[in-house]
Amino acid sequence: MAPDDLRDLIARSAATIAAHEEELTSLDRAIGDGDHGANMKRGFSAVAEQADALAGLPLGEALQKAGMTLIMKVGGASGPLYGSLLMAMGKALPDGGPADLAGVAAMLAAGVEAVKARGKSDAGAKTMLDVLVPLARALQSADAGTAAAAAIATARRTADEALAATRDMKATKGRASFLGERSIGHLDPGARSSALLVHAACDFLED
Ligand code: ADP
Ligand code: MG
Ligand code: MG
Repeated sequence: MAPDDLRDLIARSAATIAAHEEELTSLDRAIGDGDHGANMKRGFSAVAEQADALAGLPLGEALQKAGMTLIMKVGGASGPLYGSLLMAMGKALPDGGPADLAGVAAMLAAGVEAVKARGKSDAGAKTMLDVLVPLARALQSADAGTAAAAAIATARRTADEALAATRDMKATKGRASFLGERSIGHLDPGARSSALLVHAACDFLED
């Protein structure tokens, strides 16, 4: 990826998180401790501040370094989880970047496995994994010949539908699990931030 492209992707990700800080916070106030917006903003602002240094690195190294920053800067559960996602994606990235959609899907799948391991969790527990797991599955099962525009549309739709589906789930991981049945009826904050990041990445790929 060209340095300017990576700068653009980082800026878009940080901007969407900052623009939705209040929303993420109010979702987390409903079923958590009300800091998801601040946590995500702190982490992604720190990554954005490193954008020039990251843009000079090969993409795999840049992803790993950005992941480390999220782990170090974010106090909440989401920092180590998103940090693990980026670090594992960076490690899985072949030299020269992903060759095709299958390459992107494999990289994402490696990241998702790292989140599962770090969170001792999986899809169905009302977390960010309820967006990330269906997304990785949808990309992995796409036909090899899928056009970029169609793959992007699939990613957006999958993220939106997967986010919406967290509303009726009962949380069994993270702080929301303390609420038990009362966690039902609210979107998961981390699923929302994951969906926001998916749309930011899709916007980047489209422009
Ligand atoms: P904290 O819960 O420590 O305050 P955040 O509010 O920043 O951290 O992030 C909460 C989000 O993290 C949840 O909405 C959920 O999506 C995600 N999360 C929490 N625990 C786990 C876990 N064990 N596995 C996967 N995701 C998790
Ligand atoms: Mg929180
Ligand atoms: Mg917290």
